[in-house]
Amino acid sequence: MADARLSDATTPARIRELAVGLAAVRSRIEAACRTVSRDTSEVTLVVVTKTWPAADVAALHGLGARDIAENRAQELVAKARELRALGVTWHFVGQLQTNKAAAVAGSVDVVHSLDRPKLVTTLGRAAHDAGRVVRGLVQVRLDDPSAGSGRGGADDGDVVALSDLVAATEGLVLAGVMGVAPMGTDPGPAFARLQQAADAVRRAHPQADWLSAGMSGDLEAAVAHGATHVRVGSAILGSRPAPG
Ligand SMILES: *Cc1c(COP(=O)(O)O)cnc(C)c1O
Repeated sequence: MADARLSDATTPARIRELAVGLAAVRSRIEAACRTVSRDTSEVTLVVVTKTWPAADVAALHGLGARDIAENRAQELVAKARELRALGVTWHFVGQLQTNKAAAVAGSVDVVHSLDRPKLVTTLGRAAHDAGRVVRGLVQVRLDDPSAGSGRGGADDGDVVALSDLVAATEGLVLAGVMGVAPMGTDPGPAFARLQQAADAVRRAHPQADWLSAGMSGDLEAAVAHGATHVRVGSAILGSRPAPG
């Protein structure tokens, strides 16, 4: 079954499906901005294409998408290589193992999930060695650490210090903060905390004004709490198969 996804063929029907999904999400973002009197130009849509083929990324690019995210190092590197000519801005949004940092450093433009010093210094060194500059966001833990916290992120108390480290690391530019709201609860309180962390980072680093928050299910709440980058996958590409 998975084989169908690996196919390079993008049918006209698939392109129409992606166009409809993209338009629907863009109008959700516009409506969310209108509700809280924000300008739509303040919010960048990052399309999360994890598990979907490179041909879908190419089709999305043809429909105007320029910011594309993956959550696995190998998948990002493979798609970036295949689509090198397109001029996509590649975002990494998953938990990044330190030993994969060097692999993504040669391809990635933005890493949203910096959550520990070792990862920051390793990624920075690899980017520098590759002659590149990678934008980095500090991921803030928004779920309860005692709940086993699968989502990653730095604790609130460590966020500013980690931002200072990103800002001071060659090969990296501090862009701001990122968060993933816990599932199954009102995302409002989590996004309010994230907004406070973003403000604290901005006080120390005024140029680091990105706030990456919001996915298919909660982008409206994220926009209401100041998101500048929403990361949306399934509302555009369809639901991913359950991990098997
Ligand atoms: C998969 C993923 C998304 C997109 O989730 P959807 O619910 O498919 O929109 C956003 N952020 C991160 C960190 C993800 O892993």
